[in-house]
Amino acid sequence: MTEIIDGNAVASEIRDDLTDAIETLTDAGARPGLATVLMGDDPASQTYVNMKQRDCEEVGIESVHVDVAGDASPETLYEEIAALNDDPAVHGYIVQAPVPDHVDYREVIRRVDPAKDVDGFHPENVGRLVAGDARFRPCTPHGVQKLLESAGVDLEGKDVTIVGRSDIVGKPLANLLIQKADDGNATVTVCHSRTEDLAAKTRDADIVVAAAGAPELVDGSMIGDGAVVIDVGVNRVDADTEKGYELVGDVEFESAKEQASSITPVPGGVGPMTRAMLLYNTVKAASLQEGVDVDLP
Ligand code: NAD
Repeated sequence: MTEIIDGNAVASEIRDDLTDAIETLTDAGARPGLATVLMGDDPASQTYVNMKQRDCEEVGIESVHVDVAGDASPETLYEEIAALNDDPAVHGYIVQAPVPDHVDYREVIRRVDPAKDVDGFHPENVGRLVAGDARFRPCTPHGVQKLLESAGVDLEGKDVTIVGRSDIVGKPLANLLIQKADDGNATVTVCHSRTEDLAAKTRDADIVVAAAGAPELVDGSMIGDGAVVIDVGVNRVDADTEKGYELVGDVEFESAKEQASSITPVPGGVGPMTRAMLLYNTVKAASLQEGVDVDLP
């Protein structure tokens, strides 16, 4: 029987554990605070930001939201970033991507105080992660690690194939999984749009992580017998539903399930984990900045 890895359940456990840590911090006068910054009015980004705010409320994290007009100058955004860097009540913040075309996202990230960079995208935090001394693990790769742990997957010596080399998923996940650590020690192959014979690379893997943004790219014929399959992809495809679309992953679930020993669904797999790990990083940021020790899940 293939195990369906329940991301909602794992995320909920992590949120429960974080609630205890948040209480400890709040009792010490150091209630964690997360800010979200949204430049422009992209509807999908608005939805993501709203969800992040709601998640904070549920666990007792103070949340602040900053809106910046889509046609404002980059300097206007930089001023908001500087103010958040200086605000002691804000322990962490994220600038929701994508930013409008006239703003250089890399420059935005460079201006975020690395101690408050709960996305883990600042070059200092990327460097620390690669060096095996991560301060903030980026939320989606960290969530994937937690899902693998929850499914009882021992990564030591395993072959992992990651499909996708983005800065937010593929690259940091590869770097985490090769670390000499209990939740690392894997042998990782990173595939991308120029990879030749993707199927050969996925079929050989004990664990396949699909993060390509390509609907149902990975089907059962590309999965080895008994492999673990983690589907990061979230793609809107036209469908005869009320909204006119449905969400599908980068994995063709039904055929992959036939081959896999365990597999994440979409939705309900990696997505809830990404949200939970943002709360985790915010709690960690508050603990580090306030000098209050807490147990993290
Ligand atoms: P991206 O577009 O930045 O990167 C996609 C990567 O996949 C690229 O490196 C590209 O080379 C590779 N790729 C694309 N098509 C390919 C193909 N046919 N064969 C091999 N490689 C291919 O995307 P991203 O930001 O890393 O996101 C990937 C997917 O994960 C998207 O669907 C996104 O919506 C989803 N996502 C989900 C969460 C979550 O919390 N569930 C978080 C982040 C991203």
